[in-house]
Amino acid sequence: MNDYKVRKDFNIEIPKSVKMIITILEKNGYEAFAVGGCIRDTILGRQPQDWDITTSALPQQVKALFNKTLDTGIQHGTVTVMMSRVGYEVTTYRIDGEYNDSRHPDTVEFTSNLIEDLKRRDFTINAMAYNPTVGLVDAFDGIGDIEKKIIKCVGVAEERFGEDALRILRAVRFSAQLGFDIEDKTLAAAKDLSDTLKNISAERIRVELEKLITSNHPDKLITAYKAGITKVVLPEFDRMMECPQNTPYHMYNVGEHTIKVMENVPDTKVMRWAALLHDVGKPDSMTMDKKDNNLVHFYGHAKVGSLMVPEIMKRLKMDNKTIKLVIRLVECHDDRTASGEMSPASVRWSVHKIGKDIYEQYLQLAYADFQGKSDYGRKKGFDKYLYTCQQFKYIMDNNICTCKAEMAVSGKDLIEIGCPKGEIIGTVLDELLAKVLDNPQLNERETLLNIASKMF
Ligand code: ATP
Ligand code: MG
Repeated sequence: MNDYKVRKDFNIEIPKSVKMIITILEKNGYEAFAVGGCIRDTILGRQPQDWDITTSALPQQVKALFNKTLDTGIQHGTVTVMMSRVGYEVTTYRIDGEYNDSRHPDTVEFTSNLIEDLKRRDFTINAMAYNPTVGLVDAFDGIGDIEKKIIKCVGVAEERFGEDALRILRAVRFSAQLGFDIEDKTLAAAKDLSDTLKNISAERIRVELEKLITSNHPDKLITAYKAGITKVVLPEFDRMMECPQNTPYHMYNVGEHTIKVMENVPDTKVMRWAALLHDVGKPDSMTMDKKDNNLVHFYGHAKVGSLMVPEIMKRLKMDNKTIKLVIRLVECHDDRTASGEMSPASVRWSVHKIGKDIYEQYLQLAYADFQGKSDYGRKKGFDKYLYTCQQFKYIMDNNICTCKAEMAVSGKDLIEIGCPKGEIIGTVLDELLAKVLDNPQLNERETLLNIASKMF
């Protein structure tokens, strides 16, 4: 057994299954520790995403000790051990070779020394290991940096970012999730090397970027911008940061306004992406009125933005379902049917246009959007927002018809009363729906058939 400098003053609660895996490994003469994110999060009082175990046992030795294992990354030393149907990654202590553009280093070398394994980890707060018999192994003062609330590389930052550029984005992602600052030398190295993020695969970038934007501090995207990171991973954000908004509605540039909107929507993937991209079309649709104090306008920016969304999100290898929802939300975010005049009919038309399925999300985005405006923009937005929410609730509670499928008559009914087959059916249904949207009481079978019979 190696002799590690340990802190005995930390008692970390670890799940039964993890304890069992560690005990079995130890009983067989190996070392084993819970390591990385789970230790960091437990110390911080956060719920760990998953529990990783690091061990001196070689993968084949791990496999020999447990009934059910999966070879999830055996060439990098990782075996997944199944315990009560949950998988735990058990990885052999290793020293990493060069990382290229994949998820793992090109070569790995196994070692029997825990400290060597901790050295290859990215940040001091992620390089702590714990087991109940030994205690907390904290060779790089992760505890000190948790107390100082800083993200700091293990070892020399330039070297660590040089080995794997993804760590540059991870630094900002952890700073956003934990509300920590990035230590000076680490930040300086991130700035120097941010260009090298271009060598990293889109999937790896997406994972980190998404964790950043769904965190409690989406404002750290500004740190990413200042460090030259977004220039590589999301250049559209740089254009937003460089797009001023000289209108009475706004007090921020497009990028700063975007951050405010992100802060004011729920922290789900769809809502944060929609907020991030809602005004992405503004830089390309800006016009300036020289006759009116250089007042700027962004006519059509929602449509322009919605056309940019698939390009950006596909580039980041997002899933199609999310892309489709975000396109729809970006396209409708500035909808004027609901915000123009305040009447029950205008809200019904708006729900018809946007869709009941995403209207709640549309409202969340609309709310956040005016929260990120000037006082004047906020006041104007709020009255309309409240009114629209009330009306939408009424529509939902009372099953008010807002689309063809909810009408009391169908194309088949029209044919039965003698309507010729063909395009005209659609036209008649459109007309009927328009009448129903204006006056929901008309949505009765007899009434609608009666109106329809005079149309063909
Ligand atoms: P999360 O809670 O988001 O899962 P995490 O810290 O567990 O955060 P993972 O990506 O799951 O992050 O990685 C687990 C551990 O592996 C990290 O805590 C860190 O010690 C190490 N690690 C992961 N990625 C890298 C990397 N690119 N370079 C160095 N060490 C890394
Ligand atoms: Mg993890």
